[in-house]
Amino acid sequence: MSGQAPTREKMTTIGQGGKRFWLYPAKFSGAWLNRRRLTAVVLIIFFFLLPWLKINGTQAVLLDIAERKFAFFGLVLWPQDFAILWFFAAGSAILILFLTAQWGRLWCGWACPQTVFLEHVFRRIEIMIEGDARQRRKLDAAPMSAGKFGKKALKYLLFIIVSSHFANTVLCYFVGTDQVLQMTFNDPRENWGWFTFMAFFNFMFFVDFAWFREQFCLIACPYGRFQSVLLDSDSMIVGYDYNRGEPRGKMRKNETRTAGDCIDCNRCVAVCPTGIDIRQGLQMECINCTACMDACDEIMFKVNKPPKLIRYTSIADLEGRLRRFLRPRVLVYVILAAALYGVGTYLFLFNRGLKFQIVRPPGQSFTTSESEAVVSNHFEVKATNRSDQVWTVVVEVEEPLMLTTPLNPWPIPAEETATLPIFVRKQKSQFQSSGKERALVTFRDKEHGEVLYQTEVILMGPAQ
Ligand code: SF4
Ligand code: SF4
Repeated sequence: MSGQAPTREKMTTIGQGGKRFWLYPAKFSGAWLNRRRLTAVVLIIFFFLLPWLKINGTQAVLLDIAERKFAFFGLVLWPQDFAILWFFAAGSAILILFLTAQWGRLWCGWACPQTVFLEHVFRRIEIMIEGDARQRRKLDAAPMSAGKFGKKALKYLLFIIVSSHFANTVLCYFVGTDQVLQMTFNDPRENWGWFTFMAFFNFMFFVDFAWFREQFCLIACPYGRFQSVLLDSDSMIVGYDYNRGEPRGKMRKNETRTAGDCIDCNRCVAVCPTGIDIRQGLQMECINCTACMDACDEIMFKVNKPPKLIRYTSIADLEGRLRRFLRPRVLVYVILAAALYGVGTYLFLFNRGLKFQIVRPPGQSFTTSESEAVVSNHFEVKATNRSDQVWTVVVEVEEPLMLTTPLNPWPIPAEETATLPIFVRKQKSQFQSSGKERALVTFRDKEHGEVLYQTEVILMGPAQ
C-alpha cells in the first residue's frame, strides 16, 4: 500500500506535486494465484523457447522490421504482402475489442508480459530477499547498513540478469536469434551501434521492472487507457459485491453480525499491485489480477462466510440484472473481425506465389531483320515472386514462332520482382496479311515442367 488511502478521484501512487508513492503489495496465496502462476510458467517457457524454433529454416516467429520480413509459424510475409498483414492486423485489433468487451482485462491480469514478469518473477525475487510488505517498507526506511546494502545488491544483480535475458529474448523476436547471438558474442568494438542499442534496451527493461512497475499499466500502456470505452456493464470484471458486503464494519469478538460481510480488514487493498480499493467500484487502474479475490476469500474463510465477496462478475450482475453475452456492439466486432480475417486469408491463398505481367514497351510496334525476312516484336515481362523460394522459369512460344531473350531459363529470386525482355519473331512470309496476329506465350516451371502462366500477345507486322 502507498502513503495515502486509495480514492477513485486520483491515482493512489501519485501524490501532491507528482510525487511517487512506492507500493508494497503484500504477499498472499490462493486458488487464483496458483492458476495464474501455472499460466505464467507456461507462458515464460514458451516466450523464452519460441525464438529458437525454426520452421523450414526460418525463425518460427520473427517481426524483422529492418529487413521487412515477418514470419509466423512457417508463413513468411514480405513488404509486398503489406495488404495481407494489414487485414490480419486490423482483424486482430477488432478481435481484441471483442475479447475486452466480453472478458475485460483478462490479458492484463493473466498474459501481459509486464504483469507476468513483474508479479511472477521480479516480485517473487524481491519478497524472497527482502521479505513481505512490512519488512520491505522497514528496510527501505532504514539507514544504509552492510545488511541492507547486501540485500539490495543481491536483488538488483538478479534483476539485471533476468531483465537482460528478457530484453535479449524480445530482441530475438525483432532482429532474429542468429543476429542477437552474433551481437552477444562479438567484440562490442566491432559493432558499437548494435551494442549500444542492446545495452539501452537491457537498461530500459531493468528500469521498468525495478522501478517503473505499475506506472507502466497506469500511465504508459495504451490498452489500459482505452478500458473506459472498451468495457460496458456486461463485460466481465473483478468486482466487489457491495450488496453483500455493505454496510462494511470491523468484526468484534463474539459479535452477532448485522452488518454486511465486509469486515473492513483492508486486506484486498494491501495485496493490490496498483494500490486501489476495489470496493470503490470499477477503476481504470484495476488490471484484473485477481489478487484481491484470493485475499478476500482467505478472510471470508477465516470469518466463516461464503467466498467470492470479490469475484469475476459484471456490473449488470452486481446490479441484479442478467448479463447479456450477445449484444449489438459485440456482434459488430465479430462480423468485422471475421470479414477482415476473411479478406486477409483470401489474399494470402490467392495472391501469393508467382505473378506475371507482359507488356509492350511504349512507342514500339515491330522491327524487321536486315534482310527483312523476319519480323520481331519486343515485350517486357515482369514477374513478382511472392514466395520464399527461387523459381526458375522457361519461356516458350509455339512454332513457327521463334523466341529470343537474354535469359532462358530465367531464375526469379524469392520475394523479388524481376523483369526480362523477350523478342517474339516470325518469318515475314508467314505473317498474316492484316499485319496483326495472336501469339501464345507460355511460362513453365523448369524443374517440373508445369505451366505457371500462359497468355496471348498481339504481334504486329507489315500489312501486305
Ligand atoms: S478483503 Fe474482503 S473483507 Fe477485507 S476489506 Fe476487502 S472486501 Fe472487505
Ligand atoms: S483491484 Fe484486485 S484485481 Fe484489480 S488490480 Fe487490484 S488486486 Fe488486482
